[in-house]
Amino acid sequence: MSVKTSCLNPKLEAKHSKTHGKGIFAKEYIQKGERLAIFGGDVMHIDEISALPVECQNYPMQIEERFVLGSRTAVIEDTDLFNHSCNPNSGFKGQIFLVAMRDIKKDEEITFDYAMVVSKSIGSDIVFEMECKCESSNCRKRITEEDWKIPELREKYNGYFSQYLQEKIY
Ligand SMILES: [Zn+2]
Repeated sequence: MSVKTSCLNPKLEAKHSKTHGKGIFAKEYIQKGERLAIFGGDVMHIDEISALPVECQNYPMQIEERFVLGSRTAVIEDTDLFNHSCNPNSGFKGQIFLVAMRDIKKDEEITFDYAMVVSKSIGSDIVFEMECKCESSNCRKRITEEDWKIPELREKYNGYFSQYLQEKIY
């Protein structure tokens, strides 16, 4: 039996996403500030990612320079399915809470910007880089572990970066 380690707001559900395969969507209206998910799992050193089954290597979420939250037992939960957008509607409080950055309409996909959580892991060979096809007018096309340093993003996401990055910014 697989045990859930994370918590998804019951107003949300996993569905097919036109841009990403699967994603998380609002089943009803959500107010700015509402908590959308609580991320749990196994705390792993970032280098442990390469020992996970290949299909699971994209899911661990960075919570500090050298550590991620993920699943050693390779269980994928709905909370692993939030997609990146360059024009997101959610962001972080602390490292494990995802909250609405603005009011969200029914049927909207819930996204955050991976720049809010990802940074270079000192001493590790793991490098994060991703092509983006989010179709936002401000799409950066390439998402990297250096993006949290971009001044416009620091401004736009201030208060919504994962705490370990937020502390480096202000
Ligand atoms: Zn994009």
